[in-house]
Amino acid sequence: MSDSCQSCGACCAAFRVSFYWAEADDAPGGHVPVTLTEELTPHLRCMRGTHSRAPRCVALDGEVGGAVACRIYPQRPSPCREVIPGDERCRRAQELRGLTGPNGETIHEISARMELLRPGTPDELTQVTLPRKPWT
Ligand code: SF4
Repeated sequence: MSDSCQSCGACCAAFRVSFYWAEADDAPGGHVPVTLTEELTPHLRCMRGTHSRAPRCVALDGEVGGAVACRIYPQRPSPCREVIPGDERCRRAQELRGLTGPNGETIHEISARMELLRPGTPDELTQVTLPRKPWT
C-alpha cells in the first residue's frame, strides 16, 4: 500500500472485488485466504463483504478515509493489485466514498501537493524565516 493508500481505503469499500476462483488458497497455487472469500459463480469468488450494497472488504482494517491497512496485503487478489493510486478506479472509489477534494482531486493528488508544501523540503526551507532568538 502506498503511504496515501494507508489514509484512504476507498477502493476496498466501494466495489465488489471479484476474481477467478483459483486465486483462492483452496486451489493449487492459490494465495487468497479462502475463508475471507465467498462464491459468486462456479468460476468466480469475491472478497467477503464486497458483494453488498455497502461494500467493505473483510480484510480491511481501520476507518475508510482515516488510517487503514489490508490484513492480507501480500495475498490480496488480482483486482486489488491492478488498482493504481490516482487511476480511474481509484478516483471513482474516492468519489463514491465522498473523499475527493473540492476540485475533484484524489487523496493521492492532495497528499502529493501537501508533500511539496511540507516544511523541510529544500525550496520551502529557503523561505522559512527563523524567529529571532532573545539573546541576539
Ligand atoms: S483484499 Fe485487501 S486490498 Fe483487496 S479489497 Fe480487501 S482490504 Fe482491500
